[in-house]
Amino acid sequence: MRHPVFPDIIPAVIPQQSHAKVVIAGPCSAESRNQIIETATALKESGKVDLFRAGIWKPRTRPGGFEGCGSEGLKWLQEVKAATGLKTATEVATAQHVMEAADAGIDTIWLGARTTTNPFAVQEIADALSEMPDRFGILVKNPANPDLDLWIGAIQRIYNSGARRISAIHRGFSVYGTSPYRNPPQWHIPIELHRKMPELQLIFDPSHTGGKRDLVAPLAREAYELGFDGLIIESHCNPDCALSDAAQQITPSELKYILENLVFKPAGEPTQRMAELRSRIDCLDSQLLEVIAQRMELTDEIGRLKLDNGIPVLQPQRYETLMETRVAEAENLGIDRKFMSSLLAILHEESVKRQLALKGRL
Ligand code: PEP
Ligand code: MN
Repeated sequence: MRHPVFPDIIPAVIPQQSHAKVVIAGPCSAESRNQIIETATALKESGKVDLFRAGIWKPRTRPGGFEGCGSEGLKWLQEVKAATGLKTATEVATAQHVMEAADAGIDTIWLGARTTTNPFAVQEIADALSEMPDRFGILVKNPANPDLDLWIGAIQRIYNSGARRISAIHRGFSVYGTSPYRNPPQWHIPIELHRKMPELQLIFDPSHTGGKRDLVAPLAREAYELGFDGLIIESHCNPDCALSDAAQQITPSELKYILENLVFKPAGEPTQRMAELRSRIDCLDSQLLEVIAQRMELTDEIGRLKLDNGIPVLQPQRYETLMETRVAEAENLGIDRKFMSSLLAILHEESVKRQLALKGRL
């Protein structure tokens, strides 16, 4: 058994039933008292929501967009709690936000993707929390860029404040250029986070990952199949008129429908056939490692020859040919082109590194 990184960390949000997944829902932004009360009332009636979310202070990518209603919205969240009994959550980006949220009786706070990117901002929030470590459940979204260490670092800063009710939210990672997603999920990153910190509650945000209503349900299903502990979904009583993130918000009744159809089966036991297949995979992996080790030995030998004969380590022509032939060969074997190119690029990078090290060593 591995030693947990944060042995005494506990989930920031507790689902209504002990075996259920967590559901956090509410609009991207608090826009008006009516919008907040109407949305929260419908979400409460759905019976599916554990925590009501609404952004008060909105970090917009470019100036000129709706930057949130500001502190006034905190009153509306207080009303939501009084009228529906739903606990409330909002985003904080500064120590001042933390203080105001505490005074307003907010239950849970979250650090947005842009805030997690910045250790100064995270530390400022952590310092404010150290005055009241038990006050909030705290959700740490992944940084906008795909940097797992930065995400873990932010969680660690919050943990070091003394807070213990901490969870992570995966909302995808920004990308330049076209993609079907607003922020492609890059599932291997949260999976790695879970591997390193199985004790951490991991919640998925299909709204900011997909950026489109149609992607909420399929992404949520994918997350459940990957074993995420819950979802945070943007829901607005009138999504088309939303002042921020209109394209990805869904109505409370759409949310209810999606959640009702999200059946997740309890994990079954691995079958005998799976055990057999796994042992064959173990065998193939050993062979693969053996082949990689042999390949490295050969590249080391070539490296020594390059050194003796004054030939530069990097040979772009050779690299091009190697890529082209191997990718074509892989494709014939039913292996994805992009996958093969990435694999070869990693192998090649390692060979170059070893050959350069060889030069340094002599
Ligand atoms: C949000 O949840 O409203 C938000 C701004 O999300 P993110 O930080 O993931 O972009
Ligand atoms: Mn949003």
